[in-house]
Amino acid sequence: MTLNKSLVWFRRDLRAFDHAALHLALTSSNQVYCAFIYDTEILAPLPRADRRVEFIHGCLEELDAVLRKLGGHLVVRHGVAADEIARLAAELEVDAVFVNGDYEPQAIARDELVAASLEQAGRQLFSSKDQVIFEKNEVLTLSEKTFTVFTPYKNAWLRQMVADPECLAPYPIEPHAARLAPAPPGHRLPSLSDIGFEPTNLRELGIVPGMSGGAALFQDFVNRIGAYDEARNFPAVNGASALSVHLRFGTVSVRDLVRSVNALVAAGNGGAGAPVWLSELIWRDFYAMILFHHPRVAGHAFKPAFDAIEWETGAGADAAFEAWCLGRTGYPLVDAAMAQLNQTGYMHNRLRMVSACFLVKDLGVDWRRGERYFALKLNDYDLASNNGGWQWAASTGCDAQPYFRIFNPVTQSEKFDAQGRFIRRYLPQLAMLSDKEIHAPWTVPAMLLEQHGFRLGRDYPAPIVDHAVARQHTLARYGVVKPSG
Ligand code: FAD
Repeated sequence: MTLNKSLVWFRRDLRAFDHAALHLALTSSNQVYCAFIYDTEILAPLPRADRRVEFIHGCLEELDAVLRKLGGHLVVRHGVAADEIARLAAELEVDAVFVNGDYEPQAIARDELVAASLEQAGRQLFSSKDQVIFEKNEVLTLSEKTFTVFTPYKNAWLRQMVADPECLAPYPIEPHAARLAPAPPGHRLPSLSDIGFEPTNLRELGIVPGMSGGAALFQDFVNRIGAYDEARNFPAVNGASALSVHLRFGTVSVRDLVRSVNALVAAGNGGAGAPVWLSELIWRDFYAMILFHHPRVAGHAFKPAFDAIEWETGAGADAAFEAWCLGRTGYPLVDAAMAQLNQTGYMHNRLRMVSACFLVKDLGVDWRRGERYFALKLNDYDLASNNGGWQWAASTGCDAQPYFRIFNPVTQSEKFDAQGRFIRRYLPQLAMLSDKEIHAPWTVPAMLLEQHGFRLGRDYPAPIVDHAVARQHTLARYGVVKPSG
């Protein structure tokens, strides 16, 4: 296929290396334009200071700079994405638009709309796989069905990776860069305020957007990956990669990451941690595949019977939900986790599990409310992984923890933050409590707390729920459904 002019529409793939759609466009067209649209349909409901928008803005500045070095540039528009792309395609008189595929129901519907309007004008939309290693029906059971349980999926995924090494082959850009359309005179990108947004504390947090930010994090993580299997469980320890926001916006290439992990393992340098980290990337593929095949999970339990559960409603539930959002439940590990989320837009994986479980199984609040709150706050928010995580915690998901597995927030705290280092970081008002006291301040006699100048109810909330009682309510609540496991 040789096209005259093409347009690459960047979405969650904000990089100029190992990029499937850009590679395909460059190798099949004489001239290639690159574009990103700030989609007003997505941006409209967001608060005016949103770390994700600032992160994207930083990514686009770097992407434009890198494309310019390669001889191209990035066109950035602000409007309804589907309309803007059709308009831009007409303005630039391109023959085709190239994208990397998305698996979210709304994105699929939007792309169908774009494909139809392009087609009306005699243009084509080409979609490539880039976001994941295996998509849609690429990993199937022996009877050619899609998996709904992770471990057999993972084993089949690993077998497929070995059988089909092409799945990791890079899509080079530089050798074909001469086909990039050069920047017109006066080319500039909109500023954050041009699109109606304000800066956040992103930079203060040390979060560096763009390809350089992603590469630096991975470089640092590679030195620690061998210990990942253990270190990842402890929120006070720098044990995980923190790459999720970069995976979300595609400033890193998942193929590149998997190739690097495989190389480490092959050289005997991956320790016990590298295969476990690879498993996490496979979870990401798994949840994208689940969302693609079961779009109803966005809004409903994967196991339909669980939609019959009666969650707490009314003023009591609203107050409990608000206390959870604000980190004022009286359970220090949960509150510190929510403070981390509210202050930084990140939450450690162990704490996502603990705080989600607490909302659903200690407070009896519908998991969808928590899912929405995470969606609003997480820098790495991804519908597939967030929904998968929430449905796992709520036991409504495809390969979820059993409904009767109810994390004890105090035991979790004693086990994974034994010295209270994480709690002290986010709840400085508890810093003076001893390592033993800090996990459950209400169990410490008031007189002893007074010796620290600390009063429960004044300096920190008393627990809003009794875990043992809540546990019984939850077992009864789920018992109504008579779930199989
Ligand atoms: P690492 O431990 O370094 O893992 C590497 C990468 O693997 C991550 O960046 C991520 O892309 C992927 N990954 C890791 N764990 C999972 C998982 N359980 N499911 C899917 N992918 C995974 N992850 C998101 O990317 N976006 C979300 O919106 C999201 N919401 C979650 C909500 C809940 C309730 C739970 C329990 C988990 C959620 N996760 C989500 C998964 C996980 O918590 C984060 O990916 C991880 O904490 C990100 O930190 P990291 O980059 O340091 O991860």
